[in-house]
Amino acid sequence: MLSVNGVSRSFGGVYAVREVSLDIAEGEVRGIIGPNGAGKSTLFNLITGHLLADQGTISFRSTPVDRLPPHRRARLGISIVFQGARVFRGMTVRENVMVGAHTRTRTGFAAAALRLPRHRRDEREIARRADEALARVGLGAWADRQAGLLPLGQQRSMQVARALCAEPRLLLLDEPASGLRAGEREALAVLIEELRAAGLTIMLVEHDVTFVTRLADRVTVLDLGRVISEGTPGEIRADPLVVSAYLGD
Ligand code: ADP
Ligand code: MG
Repeated sequence: MLSVNGVSRSFGGVYAVREVSLDIAEGEVRGIIGPNGAGKSTLFNLITGHLLADQGTISFRSTPVDRLPPHRRARLGISIVFQGARVFRGMTVRENVMVGAHTRTRTGFAAAALRLPRHRRDEREIARRADEALARVGLGAWADRQAGLLPLGQQRSMQVARALCAEPRLLLLDEPASGLRAGEREALAVLIEELRAAGLTIMLVEHDVTFVTRLADRVTVLDLGRVISEGTPGEIRADPLVVSAYLGD
């Protein structure tokens, strides 16, 4: 489904991602782990188009995407929940999710926010899609509540709903469990399993290795921008290179 080939990106002469290659199969859940600064978020931004690669190619469902802007990649089916994604606390849960839906309609977010009359039909369609996404993540009853009043775990589910609004085939989750309590983590894990069962392909960056290895079919380990190991969760745990670079501390 996704093929990343020899992709590099540097900032001020320092590589954040260096000659990374990986292939993600349709329906797979791929864990991406590695210490802070390993290049995980940069890799995600290169896949979504929020950053451009200095070198290498990326193709999605056999289409080269590495020169496409983010909205074009979103339309092809790549969606992301950013690390520390912003919650518009004063807006309702539905409105927060609707922010993510505009990539798929003719109406830009700015025009929609102005509520111009000719956009009202689009608005209704987007609200309908937002409610559908909220139902999928178990937040159907919360649509009209103020987002800032949701517990953190449900705010994360709301962010997932926002990403689902774009009707992705590939969903990138960057540290979705960070800061969550055990019960909230469990609920998030169940949600991710449900999304996979519904046919989504998922890439999951997460600090909590137990969380990743429980969910992932395969795990890629990054260190200093490079892939240092890849395999099943069992293989990764047994790899001495991974233990010394990451699991050891
Ligand atoms: P991770 O998500 O694995 O913690 P990042 O991808 O955020 O790592 O960062 C990888 C490296 O690239 C780090 O050294 C970071 O400081 C650097 N980096 C990331 N984004 C930028 C940026 N926009 N400008 C400069 N340096 C950056
Ligand atoms: Mg990161």
